[in-house]
Amino acid sequence: MSRRLLFVHAHPDDEASKGAATAARYVDEGVEVALITCTGGEAGDVLNPGAGVAEPEHMGSIRARELAEAVAAIGFTRTYGLGYLDSGYHEDPADVPEGTFARVPLDRPAREVAAVIRAERPHVVVTYDEDGGYPHADHIMNHLVTMRGLALAEDADADLGDQQGSVLPAWRVPKVYATLIFPPERIRALRAALQERGIASQFAERLAERLDRDPGWDPDAKVWCADHFERRDAALRAHVTQIDPDGHWFEVPRDLEREVYPYEGYRLLRTDVPVQRPEHDLFAGLDTAAVDAAAVDTADDRQWAPGDDTGSSGSPTSRAVAE
Ligand SMILES: [Zn+2]
Repeated sequence: MSRRLLFVHAHPDDEASKGAATAARYVDEGVEVALITCTGGEAGDVLNPGAGVAEPEHMGSIRARELAEAVAAIGFTRTYGLGYLDSGYHEDPADVPEGTFARVPLDRPAREVAAVIRAERPHVVVTYDEDGGYPHADHIMNHLVTMRGLALAEDADADLGDQQGSVLPAWRVPKVYATLIFPPERIRALRAALQERGIASQFAERLAERLDRDPGWDPDAKVWCADHFERRDAALRAHVTQIDPDGHWFEVPRDLEREVYPYEGYRLLRTDVPVQRPEHDLFAGLDTAAVDAAAVDTADDRQWAPGDDTGSSGSPTSRAVAE
């Protein structure tokens, strides 16, 4: 019986920097792992001095290529690009341009996410915290869109407009998480290890400052994924314009990271099953076969689309960018 996982990310490169090793591990375990990327990343600056010059009007196509390479490195089963315009990073939310992802009416992208959820029928969805995990308007929007999309997906009476998912049975996702990039326990572990080994690191100091400013949450779930750090790194490097291979992403030696913090952390946003913290598997406590069977029963009770094969996984939306 298949297990299914869906990540919802704001920009190309977020799939590489948040939960990539987890995704790669689950792919290797036979889980179907799908990815939604809400924007095209068009407003991104070139953050890697070695990447050369990219004209702003070419950023969208460059980042689509980078995303495709990162997706191949991680091994996502299916990907969906919603194609919204990247809002760009703005200190003042009032500066977020009209027409960009963070400014569109919530239900527009939420209906699209709901359609993907009905097609993919994930047992677990991963998104961001309500604060975005990082104060970018698109990341905060990503949380809102995901949560609204989950609500629409499970409501058989919801109006999904002309989205393909509107003809598919409702689907309730039993577990929902937010990614945590730098939970306090990870910062402490990395910082102590760097100091012990006498590795001078501005990164360690920046992490410490972050801890003082806003400690954030320790994980409800810690997924061991040390064997997949290389795949995560390959995905990061695929984002040539965004990730400096000599920059902070690679500042902590990987063998040290494997030793002191071989996990990726998640905060539980919602669960239909009891959990014991910290969990070590995002599917912990879930009987996925029973979840699937119950959903088919519910759909039958509603006499949903008579003759329709509710056991099929549906077809990806028209904007699916890769298989
Ligand atoms: Zn982002």
